[in-house]
Amino acid sequence: MLTTGNHPGDELQQLLDGRLEAERRAQVEAHLAVCARCRRELAALRWVTAAVRKGLPERDVPAAVAAGVAAALDGADRAARRRRPAWVIGLALAAAAVLVVLVTRGGAPDVVAAAAEELARYRAADLPLQLETGDPRALERLIARSTLRFPVRVFDFGMMGYRLAGGGAHRLAGRRSALFAYEDAGGRRVVCQMYEGRITELPAGAERREHDGIQFRIYRTAGLTLVFWQEGDVVCVLASDGDPEEAVQLAYAKAIKE
Ligand SMILES: [Zn+2]
Repeated sequence: MLTTGNHPGDELQQLLDGRLEAERRAQVEAHLAVCARCRRELAALRWVTAAVRKGLPERDVPAAVAAGVAAALDGADRAARRRRPAWVIGLALAAAAVLVVLVTRGGAPDVVAAAAEELARYRAADLPLQLETGDPRALERLIARSTLRFPVRVFDFGMMGYRLAGGGAHRLAGRRSALFAYEDAGGRRVVCQMYEGRITELPAGAERREHDGIQFRIYRTAGLTLVFWQEGDVVCVLASDGDPEEAVQLAYAKAIKE
């Protein structure tokens, strides 16, 4: 069993730069699969790397936020803070800037991180399923008896080699959701959820695609792919740890135009 103990820290930058040797890289990736903290750090690191490439000026970070982040970096340990490499400070500032952007947009920034975290928990055998079943109709009947106010269609990915493991009524970042979990013969996993909301509330940074007249928002983070789309009043999200393009194709196969 993997532990969330030794966080890779500085090695995340080396991972992004492709400087880790294969064995260590696999260990760091395995850690990322079970550690939400490091996934957030990697996502912020990616963001700051992209921002630096685009020449984002540091003054875009509000002074109060920058001061708060600097103070939070290590509490009272000023000596330690001085020894921090510049990129760590930059990372913290960038993460704060992202947070400010998300908060001021009044959106639902937690949904993307929460959906990724649920997939990671499922991979770590740490996600209880209300009903373990390979039968999509049985899962639909269970969810129909729950307090969810929208009709739920449990996807059948059998043709694509993914077996339904189960699911049930769930909560995604505080919203009531329906959750279905899948696995293929190679151990790859998919977790789908549906919740009442709008994809227009999702945070910035998604890749946007259109297929068969349906809009998709795609996020990639730490080897995971999350695909969101709208069906009526309901948002569907498919989270996969398999091939990113395959994840998009699974979503295309099941999405229904409003
Ligand atoms: Zn970690």
